[in-house]
Amino acid sequence: MIKEIQSKRVLTYHEDSFPTNWDLNPYRGCTIGCKYCFAQYSHKYLGLNDFFKDILVKTNVSERLEIELKRKNWKRETIKIGGTTDLYQHVEKKYELLPKIYDVIKKYKTPIFIQTKSTLILRDFEIIKELSKITTVDVATSISSFDESIRKVIEPGASSGLERIEMLAKFKGIARNTVLGFMPIIPLLSDSDKNLETTFRLTKEYNIDTIVTSFLFLRGDLKPKFLNIIKSNFPEIYTDFSKLYIHSTIDSAYYNYVNLKMRRLREKLNLFGTYAANSPIAHENQLSLF
Ligand code: SF4
Repeated sequence: MIKEIQSKRVLTYHEDSFPTNWDLNPYRGCTIGCKYCFAQYSHKYLGLNDFFKDILVKTNVSERLEIELKRKNWKRETIKIGGTTDLYQHVEKKYELLPKIYDVIKKYKTPIFIQTKSTLILRDFEIIKELSKITTVDVATSISSFDESIRKVIEPGASSGLERIEMLAKFKGIARNTVLGFMPIIPLLSDSDKNLETTFRLTKEYNIDTIVTSFLFLRGDLKPKFLNIIKSNFPEIYTDFSKLYIHSTIDSAYYNYVNLKMRRLREKLNLFGTYAANSPIAHENQLSLF
C-alpha cells in the first residue's frame, strides 16, 4: 500500500549527533527491505503492518521544510536526509520529492548528509553537484556484503555492493566527504576473509574518504525475526549464529576477533580516514574561502 500524506512537521531532532542531530525523512516505511532493519518497529505505532510494503509519502515535505527552515533560530546545522528510511527507495522514482527538497536546501544554504543504498541518487547527480557549490554535502552508503547471493536475501531492494561503491566514488570531489559504512557486519555471513578483504580493498581502490564499521545489533522483536531469516536461508550457520547472539549485541570475544582482522586490513591499506561532523561555523569559514 502506498499512501500520500500531509506532514505537520518534517524535521526531527534527536540526541545522537552522528552525523548530525537533525533528520528529514520524505517517506515512512522503506521498499529497500533490509531484513536487519531496526526501523521496522516504528510502523506498529502508525497502525501499519508491513514496513517494507506500506509506504507513507509526505507529498508536502518540501513546503513544510521551507516553513521550518524559515524559523529565525535555524543555525544551518547539517540535516541528514533519509536517517530512518532510504530517501532513494523505489517510490522516489515516481514522486521525485528530492529535487524539490534540494531546491529548499539550496535557498537556505543548509549542509546535508545523504545516505542511500540506491543508485537512483545518480538521477540527481547534477543537482547535487550544483548544491555542493553553495553548501556542504556529504554522501554515504552502507554495504554489508559484496556477495550478491547474500545481498539478494538480506537487502532485496538495494543496488548491488559494487554499484553502491561505484556510485559513491562518483561523488568524490563533489561531496565534502564520501563515507562507506561497512554495516551491518553479520557474523558468519558478511565477515568472511573474502568479504573483509574486498570491502577494504575497494574502499582504497575507489578512493573513498572514510570507512566506518558496525556489527549487527538485534534488539527487541528484530532478534527472533532475523534468526528466522537465518534459519530459512542460511541453515548451515544457524546454530553458531544463535550462540553469538545470546544478547542483542554480538559476543564480545567474536567482536574482538573480527575487529582485529579489520584493524590489520586498515594498517595494510593505510585506511585511517575518520568522519568529521560538519559544523555551521566551519561551514561558514569554508564558504568564505571561495
Ligand atoms: S535502507 Fe535503511 S530504512 Fe530502508 S529497509 Fe534498509 S535499513 Fe531499513
